[in-house]
Amino acid sequence: MTFNPPVLEQRFLLDHIVGIAQLEEGANDLVDPILEESAKLAAGEFAPLNRIGDEHGARWKDGAVTMPPGFREAYSSYVEGGWGTLTASPDYGGQGLPYALGTCVFESLTAANTAFSLCVMLTAGAIDALQHHGSDSQKERFLPKLITGEWSGTMCLTEPQAGSDVGALRSEAERRDDGSFAIRGQKIFITYGEHDLTGNIVHLVLARIKGAPAGTKGISLFLVPKFRRGANGEFDQPNGVHCLSIEKKLGIHASPTCVLAFGDGDECIGELIGEENGGMRAMFTMMNNARLNVGLQGVAIAERATQDALAYATTRIQGRRAGSEDPSPVPISQHADVRRMLLRMKALTQASRALVYYTAGMIDKGVRGDRAAATRVDLLTPLAKAYGTDVGCEVASIGIQVHGGMGFIEETGAAQHLRDARITPIYEGTNGIQAADLVTRKLALGNGAVLNDLVAEIKAASADQPQLQRLADEVARLSEYLAGAGVEDRLAGSYPYLTMLSVCVCGWLMALQLGRASEDSDFGASKRQTARFYLDRIVPEVMGLSASVTAGAGSLYALSEAALLS
Ligand SMILES: Cc1cc2nc3c(=O)[nH]c(=O)nc-3n(C[C@H](O)[C@H](O)[C@H](O)COP(=O)(O)OP(=O)(O)OC[C@H]3O[C@@H](n4cnc5c(N)ncnc54)[C@H](O)[C@@H]3O)c2cc1C
Repeated sequence: MTFNPPVLEQRFLLDHIVGIAQLEEGANDLVDPILEESAKLAAGEFAPLNRIGDEHGARWKDGAVTMPPGFREAYSSYVEGGWGTLTASPDYGGQGLPYALGTCVFESLTAANTAFSLCVMLTAGAIDALQHHGSDSQKERFLPKLITGEWSGTMCLTEPQAGSDVGALRSEAERRDDGSFAIRGQKIFITYGEHDLTGNIVHLVLARIKGAPAGTKGISLFLVPKFRRGANGEFDQPNGVHCLSIEKKLGIHASPTCVLAFGDGDECIGELIGEENGGMRAMFTMMNNARLNVGLQGVAIAERATQDALAYATTRIQGRRAGSEDPSPVPISQHADVRRMLLRMKALTQASRALVYYTAGMIDKGVRGDRAAATRVDLLTPLAKAYGTDVGCEVASIGIQVHGGMGFIEETGAAQHLRDARITPIYEGTNGIQAADLVTRKLALGNGAVLNDLVAEIKAASADQPQLQRLADEVARLSEYLAGAGVEDRLAGSYPYLTMLSVCVCGWLMALQLGRASEDSDFGASKRQTARFYLDRIVPEVMGLSASVTAGAGSLYALSEAALLS
């Protein structure tokens, strides 16, 4: 299936939701060429490899991982085009452009080829962590090549007994005489832990320094390159990191998900990043970046699934239109229920995109000194991650439904979208963990003021949207209820609450777009109808979740484990 990156939509959001002109002087001249050129790379080089990657997959042999045919060449185009440098710091070879603009580029690459774009995503997270927490020497040695993409990055948290509970990890670090650390341990599920796209791989590894406290308080972050620097000054000495295997997965087949052994039989040397036992703080920098990008993955797959469904529905002829005099068969897009599905796909995709882009714009404002924007990002990040990925799965699933039986057949590509999307609510902190983060930490930000300010802004801006007003009032009431509830009751209502709050924010962003889209173009007309669909159908639909927010934990725990099993 051909893929057309949504350049018009990206530009519209940058202008009307992000406010790019206020973020970057001369943005007007910059934005269009960047959107258009990245769209060419995405559609021309990444997208044609999506199917190949799915069918061929990354392959492991004797510790080495070979990427599917064509990936190395397309990756070279990414590096040569300087795409990795867009938002990174100019001190280390980056262009320092707004994060929101990088978000557009990343969306296009991800929609084109989700499995491939993960390499870029993990590298961006490593760059972010090093920029914030690395020493000057670490930045000088590692950032330039990570920024160009000549080297890639990973994020190594998970171990068999330490998934959501990162504090249970057992990887160890032992101080060496020269101040570096010997790293020992095994990590699982490491995305792009080994591959043949780059000359080096910079692993950011969570481990416990010998004697450090148990749990998250005793975790430190280490920089562990696949190749360390030799006496000749080159990074060409193997550093005791071995890829033991890669996983067979439901989707993202071209993204190698690796079991990595560190210091198993040979020496693996790491450097501490940031403070001793300060690993979680440093890792959160990387994870927050990755969480927003995973939310964006959901949006990107939803976009691709929607484009494919629209193309199919407007050409597949089946049955006459109900109520029409004309007996001729029509494209299925003429049937009311298919229309409903298509508009739902468009509405969910555009609304969740607006949420992610808005959050990206707030990151930019925060970086430029706006404290209120920075704290709003903290509140919005779990929403963007969880709602964006839930939308990705729902839209990909509807996409299969629109294709009918052909959707269930791999040939159309609709099934791959759902298989690829299905990991996104799981990794980078499951969506259940995002909901828990929202009700246990984020609601309390500023003693509740961060949330209250957001809801007040939504209410003030949507006086002419009665359904959205009702939802905002209900969210305010539920937030008060949660603030006063015990922790079990709060957690029991966390997921439906997260969905309601996400839809409330998205409804607001769709209402803003409705007010700004002109009626005299296909794009404007489509934007207005799609926004109306979201406000009239999706916003009221989530009011029904209210009862489960306040139902409490009692009925969840009413069954004993034995009764649960019966
Ligand atoms: C394809 C793929 C790529 C990955 N890439 C990476 C990577 O690059 N680096 C890395 O470090 N890890 C990576 N992971 C690991 C991923 O982040 C974990 O799988 C994820 O965090 C969940 O951990 P788990 O699988 O152990 O599930 P578990 O923690 O066992 O969770 C199982 C279920 O229980 C729920 N649950 C667990 N604890 C709680 C709780 N306290 N409250 C409420 N619900 C809870 C979860 O929400 C989930 O539904 C990857 C995984 C996959 C499959």
